[in-house]
Amino acid sequence: MSAYSPLRLRLDGAALAANWRWLDAASGAAACGAAVKANGYGLGAREVAARLAKAGCRDFFVATWAEAAEIEPVIGDASLAVLHGVTPEDMPAARASRARPVLNTQAQLSLWREVGRPCDVMVDTGMNRLGLVGTEAVGDLAIDTLHSHLACADEASDLNLRQRDTFANIRAAIPARRYSLANSAGICLGADYAFDLTRPGLALYGGIPRAEVEGHIASVAAIEARVIQRRRCEAGDTIGYNAIHRLDAPCEVAILHIGYADGYLRCFSGTGRALIEGRAAPVLGRVSMDLTAIDVSDVPQVGEGDWVALDFDLRSAAAQSGLSQYELLTTLGRRYQHMWQ
Ligand SMILES: *Cc1c(COP(=O)(O)O)cnc(C)c1O
Repeated sequence: MSAYSPLRLRLDGAALAANWRWLDAASGAAACGAAVKANGYGLGAREVAARLAKAGCRDFFVATWAEAAEIEPVIGDASLAVLHGVTPEDMPAARASRARPVLNTQAQLSLWREVGRPCDVMVDTGMNRLGLVGTEAVGDLAIDTLHSHLACADEASDLNLRQRDTFANIRAAIPARRYSLANSAGICLGADYAFDLTRPGLALYGGIPRAEVEGHIASVAAIEARVIQRRRCEAGDTIGYNAIHRLDAPCEVAILHIGYADGYLRCFSGTGRALIEGRAAPVLGRVSMDLTAIDVSDVPQVGEGDWVALDFDLRSAAAQSGLSQYELLTTLGRRYQHMWQ
């Protein structure tokens, strides 16, 4: 029996599946996969992958072989690709896995030639992150899916069209069974960007990378923490580490079981808020490792042992904290009890 947790992550499985279905429809004739790296963007890779497989997703993407091994048992015979490719150290795990590497360099191509199984290949079209350059030779490898990745799909940038055109040229030069370019934001750029397979991550989990998805993508994760103590503070008192918040009037304060070790990072200090029966309860002072103080002067009903929801709407929480929606999700710690509904 695992110990009781005073922190919970409420996860909406129906919203996750509905987000995937919307992205699948928005991908047009292309198949729609799912990026479930970084523990399913912090929400639990196994739980996420099992639900998406059930919804009909047939293509999964992870970053590492350890991540591949974690979800392999729950996705049936769906396709699984490891975005970082292979190193010599990965080879035992890669040989034992049925996942395909997404090969990024000539050294990775050579390693995989010995295995003889199909692979994916990443080509760089202007992001200068991972992948072969342009039409660099790939030899006679059997390529399942040839990928590239968009650097600025969440903005109006000239680079989007240039990357798309470069990718179309590479497609004419390198034979593969399928071609894939678009992430969540790339799907919104239109049918020209979808090719045969899309690879959304963020929007599956309720993230809003572009205005086009507003109203179509539902929130998946909500965080709740219990109140350990409620206390009254007087004008002139300070709250928390380094006494950065000084009260100019008396205040009722609730101390929550959540802190930066739970992904509620210090950038929420003085900017984040809880939402209690429609009322905002602002974060007071500095977020600690495991504790956060909120102002509950307007919510007399909240006391010791009560559960409080933090404002974790990804766009407003991003605005409060200065973090990206990606960081908000992927830094969620391991102390939450996951409650899927
Ligand atoms: C993470 C990742 C994705 C998913 O991107 P989102 O912006 O989260 O939709 C797609 N492709 C590659 C190569 C990635 O690394």
